[in-house]
Amino acid sequence: MTRRTSATCAYCRELADGREDWFPRWLGRHKGMQLLVDRICDACNQSLGKSLDQPMSRESPQAVNRALMQTPGRHGKSPHLFSHKSQQAQPPVVLNVAAPGAEFQPHAEIIPGSNPPRSQIVRQLIFEKPDGTRGSIRISHISPKEDEKWLRRAIENYGFESARLVEMYCEPDDPSKAVDQRKPVAWLRRALLAAFPQSAIQAQEHGIQVNWLVDGEVEALNVAATLRVEVNIDYARALAKTAFHYALTVDRTITGREDEFQGIRRFIKDGIGPPSDFVDANARPFLIDSGTARRGVHHFLLVEVNRVDELVVRMQYFVPGSRISGAQDVLGISPVRVVLGLYPHLSAPRLGHAIRLFEKKVDGFDGEILPLELGQVDGLWGVFPPPWAGRKPSM
Ligand SMILES: [Zn+2]
Repeated sequence: MTRRTSATCAYCRELADGREDWFPRWLGRHKGMQLLVDRICDACNQSLGKSLDQPMSRESPQAVNRALMQTPGRHGKSPHLFSHKSQQAQPPVVLNVAAPGAEFQPHAEIIPGSNPPRSQIVRQLIFEKPDGTRGSIRISHISPKEDEKWLRRAIENYGFESARLVEMYCEPDDPSKAVDQRKPVAWLRRALLAAFPQSAIQAQEHGIQVNWLVDGEVEALNVAATLRVEVNIDYARALAKTAFHYALTVDRTITGREDEFQGIRRFIKDGIGPPSDFVDANARPFLIDSGTARRGVHHFLLVEVNRVDELVVRMQYFVPGSRISGAQDVLGISPVRVVLGLYPHLSAPRLGHAIRLFEKKVDGFDGEILPLELGQVDGLWGVFPPPWAGRKPSM
């Protein structure tokens, strides 16, 4: 989609002809949501969407919550969690199951459509490094056309070259066989043989603990008590993109091309710079709940200039309100804080919005966006949930 504009793209200086959903479109369609125009070109918009939004829509706590709430995406259905092409690279977010007494927490996933949500352990290889620490590689289904080099690449990606394969979770070639007669499924056996020299795999075979993933044999685990989230750079970049584009949408005095935003632009576009310079994914909450009966689940966003003149965006995803039904059970996600740059200018002291998620679609919308009330309590600035009734959605 292109449009007439004379502005140039914040990232590449081409014409800013993109029309962007600054809030990830895969999180639903929201009434009153403005598009970001005249700031980003269509090419940058498309490539950032592919490299950042796509993995986040499959492997993030937000993606898990979307699946739990069963919000359909742009094309009308939820993509299957944890299955996309870049799977073999380091995943943006890993869900681990805290198994009591276990040395290592195996990766888990939400069982799609389960309600109340439940998780199950996924197919994976567990490695032990020379220093005794353990890590795991998630294994997705490999197409028959794919060569067997993917496992070697994954081992390099994870830095497990000098590690020892100690444990695996996988399906057996023949589930009807007795446990000690089973072998891993053929495609996985081929990959293992390609990744490890023949002699090494034979020597290791005896010491490898194999856990068979067969319906009913590995118990499904309860989600809420056991999920832990690890954040990596692509997840941080996706959060930074939403934060930056939110600020560009709500304050039109910012072009995004200012020198002060060079750092955040390079981090979003090329992953340059340590994530901790820009993104704190375990920030303190900014929402002061005034005790209003806030019904349902909300996202909250706020942009402000902090005491040291940084332009900062704070975001809280999937904040549960008073519960309406089991369908709105969600995982807790830590508040996010993104520093955009040393830029003490904003058209108002603070700008904030809430996205209220509907229990079910209304006129094709999954929710609506509304401005937040900003206020002070006991000397602390905060954001209050607005009284929803009778408010017209606007930006
Ligand atoms: Zn561009």
